[in-house]
Amino acid sequence: MSELPFREAARATADLVADYLAAVPKGPVWQPMEPAARARLLDAPLPRTGRPLAELLAGIATEVMPAPMGNGHPRFFGWVNSAPAPAGVLASLAAAAMNPSSAGGDHADVHLERAVVRWIAELVGFPHSPGAGLLTSGTSMATIVCLAAARGRAAARVGHDVRAEGLSGLPPLVGYVSGETHSCVRKAAELLGLGSRQLRVVEADAEGRLDVAALRAAVAQDRAAGRLPFLVAASAGTVNTGAVDRFEPIADLCAEQGLWLHIDGAYGAFGVLDPVIAHRFAGLERADSLALDPHKWLGVPVDCGCALVRDAGQLRETFSLVPSYLRDEEAGGLGWFSEYGTEQTRPFRSLKVWATIAHRGRDGLAADIAHCTELARRLGELVEADPGLELLAPVATSIVAFRARPAELSPSELNALNQALPLAVQRRGQAFVTGTVLGGREALRACLLNATTTESDLMLLLDEVRAAAAELTGRQDLV
Ligand SMILES: *Cc1c(COP(=O)(O)O)cnc(C)c1O
Repeated sequence: MSELPFREAARATADLVADYLAAVPKGPVWQPMEPAARARLLDAPLPRTGRPLAELLAGIATEVMPAPMGNGHPRFFGWVNSAPAPAGVLASLAAAAMNPSSAGGDHADVHLERAVVRWIAELVGFPHSPGAGLLTSGTSMATIVCLAAARGRAAARVGHDVRAEGLSGLPPLVGYVSGETHSCVRKAAELLGLGSRQLRVVEADAEGRLDVAALRAAVAQDRAAGRLPFLVAASAGTVNTGAVDRFEPIADLCAEQGLWLHIDGAYGAFGVLDPVIAHRFAGLERADSLALDPHKWLGVPVDCGCALVRDAGQLRETFSLVPSYLRDEEAGGLGWFSEYGTEQTRPFRSLKVWATIAHRGRDGLAADIAHCTELARRLGELVEADPGLELLAPVATSIVAFRARPAELSPSELNALNQALPLAVQRRGQAFVTGTVLGGREALRACLLNATTTESDLMLLLDEVRAAAAELTGRQDLV
């Protein structure tokens, strides 16, 4: 094949991508890769000489695009991975063409990032002042950013400069989470030298929400023992069941005790856009920091997380290496993003966020999100209507946790069956769910993030679960 000029290759790329996206809903959700196809990728030799663009495109079309993860499909219900917003896909190409480092300076990407961070805050109703947030690779990184600020504030309050001195000389800083808190909080605590043992796992109530009375008791106990409680990490949508903690009483306790309230809204914070469930998020705006993922419910192509803080100064104090007497000379007085986080060279994430939000508008996004929560409640009803299935948690946002419960199986047989079910369903290619463990019980969880998913997709999902259960048990009465 001959070398295409860039323009022709770009047009061919556009066709390839449009054809791909149009075909996704018609194909299987996911299929295991052919061993030979997998090996061709794994063992690809380092090319010594170059190849024309047209050949690369052909290779992408035949070797890569036939083996997707599945998350573009309307019957992909696994983990928390969305289909890409088409506007975000297009914007990604333009962003790569410009290829700035969104670190600082006077170019479009830097100003656009300031704007979309403000938009994100506005979407979820979090107060925002200029500089009080930035885009990150995801919530894992946003959590590190937020917890670093929390750690700095706590240390400063006892006259300790944690940036200069590290943690030595400080009493143990204690944070509080629930058993349903995402592992990224623990990872951040470990990385920040806080130690995962200083993260108290407070009981959750029957709905998977942090028990505020237990939280209060744990804080008192740690104070009495001479430790320094400093942080509560609450969840706006847990990954297992989509539960939303009760922020008002938690924020009251944090205010009273001088604790930093961090909210993990990675998956669920945008749920506040749905008027039906918005009340669950009351008090979210009182947090000191909020981490959330435009690359989940908004469908911004991966990667894009966001860290928001109440006080921009806190973030800058945590990360800036620019002496304070120099700071205000920077354009607009905000300085570089590297003064607010860990990265120096930073990708142009804001264009795909801008495109995704601008294409749907606030109302369009709210409608998409409301569609997902409505379908999730419907799936909950369908599960409850089937005696062979069991709903394992109330449907608070758009995650449905359930299991197969055929009659005459012992608890351990039920666990074995439900543990095997996700992969069995996935392999059938018609729907994709993943599993988890809830209160010692193996469970399936379906996460609804795709506005093109329909009620008949839900029926098909449950048919597939029944068929896979029949396959695994050899019992035809389960179909
Ligand atoms: C996805 C997720 C995270 C981690 O975010 P990443 O973007 O994957 O780094 C944290 N908390 C919750 C609730 C999540 O759903």
